[in-house]
Amino acid sequence: MIELRTPTQIEQMRPAGRFVASVIKALSEKAAVGVNLLELDELAHRMIKDAGATSCYIDYHPSFGAMPFGKVLCTSVNDAVLHGLPFDYVLQDGDLLSVDFAASVDGWVSDSALSVVVGTPRDEDLRLIGVAQKALDAGIAAARSGNRLGDISFAIGSVAHEAGLKVNLQFGGHGVGRTMHGDPHVPNDGQAGRGLKLRPGLVIAIEPWFLHTTDEIRFDPDGWTIRSADGSRGAHVEHTVAITDGDPIVLTARD
Ligand code: MG
Repeated sequence: MIELRTPTQIEQMRPAGRFVASVIKALSEKAAVGVNLLELDELAHRMIKDAGATSCYIDYHPSFGAMPFGKVLCTSVNDAVLHGLPFDYVLQDGDLLSVDFAASVDGWVSDSALSVVVGTPRDEDLRLIGVAQKALDAGIAAARSGNRLGDISFAIGSVAHEAGLKVNLQFGGHGVGRTMHGDPHVPNDGQAGRGLKLRPGLVIAIEPWFLHTTDEIRFDPDGWTIRSADGSRGAHVEHTVAITDGDPIVLTARD
């Protein structure tokens, strides 16, 4: 079911957006060669506690997970791109790290992700992250009342195709509200002018993610961590966006 939020409710969603943005910023600043993924999870845990926020991840247990997630953060490294379960791993020079974080504040959820390279970057990894960021910006620009859902998908997919990347349609963006995942599903490729009509009050997570040389994925035995089928690296960026009768509001914008 698609739920629309009133302007007052969108204002009430801002603290969650600001909090999630602050955690993503802190994680990206802490991520460095020699830092353990579990330290990143601990940092997010501490920030949740200090803010009186609630993790969306720790008890999350959909059918595809072998067990409840148990952490408050997704950390996906190199050929892992989505849903990476933090584990005892020390970041190495040149690692491509994607962090994905969602939390609830005052009963409203926000969801955001960012990819960074720790240490010495490879040019192709910086390029991949740049394409994902450009696709996110294009998707946000299309998130306007009167457009259709397909316009967002088309905008994201066009950036990917221009860069010679394939797009996986199994995982994409989603409605955000009282819970982390709601309708509608927001695919990262599609046809302009098709699908749900966008109306003020629709709040969605827009989250392009791309792999260097494939659109095929495989799951780790834990049921969570999603990797490229061919071992190539991936990038993932995400913002929670409110559609209004004017410009979209990026609730998880980092200053
Ligand atoms: Mg997310």
